[in-house]
Amino acid sequence: MTLPWHKPAFEKLKKMIDQNHLPHALLITGAPQMGKFDLMQQLVQTLLCQDQSCGQCALCRAISKDSPKEVLDTSVLIRRSHYPNMVYCRTEVNDKGVESKNIRIDQIRAFCDALNKTADDLQIGVLFYADQMNVSAANSLLKTLEEPRDNTLIILLAHNPKNLPATILSRCQSVHIAPAYDKQTQSWLEGHISDTQNKDFDIPQLLENTHGVPFKVLSELSGDGFIHYQNWQNQLLNIAVHPAMINQVQDFEGNEVEVLNCLQNLVIEGIRLKSSKHEGGLVELNQIIKTVKTDFLFRLLDDIYHAISLSKTPVNIKLLLDNILIVWSHITRLQRYPQITKT
Ligand SMILES: [Zn+2]
Repeated sequence: MTLPWHKPAFEKLKKMIDQNHLPHALLITGAPQMGKFDLMQQLVQTLLCQDQSCGQCALCRAISKDSPKEVLDTSVLIRRSHYPNMVYCRTEVNDKGVESKNIRIDQIRAFCDALNKTADDLQIGVLFYADQMNVSAANSLLKTLEEPRDNTLIILLAHNPKNLPATILSRCQSVHIAPAYDKQTQSWLEGHISDTQNKDFDIPQLLENTHGVPFKVLSELSGDGFIHYQNWQNQLLNIAVHPAMINQVQDFEGNEVEVLNCLQNLVIEGIRLKSSKHEGGLVELNQIIKTVKTDFLFRLLDDIYHAISLSKTPVNIKLLLDNILIVWSHITRLQRYPQITKT
């Protein structure tokens, strides 16, 4: 079963298989939790299963037993798939059981060695996530990509192709899983959440909030992520309508980046509604966009992006959020847009 938001990417892959144009190196990209691993599994099953990914045969079952979330307790350079002709290269654990941030050169060497074994059957190597290769690892992989052997398929999974060297990118054919907001994805989500959640939450809004990542909607709903989110969203909307409420916000401390993300989504939605001259589902937001200057929304959005990127540095994020909230609370009344973050 193809996930609805995988369809365009899968069709592209299927075409490559049908026309016998599958490259030696394939790059599957998409935001975290877009289901890159699942798409890879479906590709391999379609490629190898006699019955085009039936899901039932020994081969299909072996491949679907593999999981990117496998709990690692021992360190090995590469991992074997449940399907004998497939190996994985991924970040490993050290002796203390801590997972490393990078894929190292010795791992890539072992990965390429395993693939270079002479064999009649197609040998498949899957590397995730290619964004995590350090420079020497990437250079080492490049050698194998430059001299592709027959009967091997290397599949790289990556969150962001921008993090990969151009030399690697140029040797792979890419397939991207795009964020999904469409009706089919919405109905898939409806079928995967409880009746109560269907009543309590607006699915298009949930997809907006996760930037179109359906699995993220599920994982956040299974925790209390969205309850927090709705609480922040309500407070943010309140502040912009009643600036004095800024002194009564709750649950912002310690969640500064999440609150900034929430505000970012509100501002993006505000800009979208204002430019399309439509009203949205949030009453307060409709009220705000009636009087706000579009230019101020864009400038606030820039400041929010900047603050989120600064949050990875030792900046005082609480102070930064406070400053942004002061501007947001007066966004409909501002005469001039103030400077918040220095660029
Ligand atoms: Zn099968």
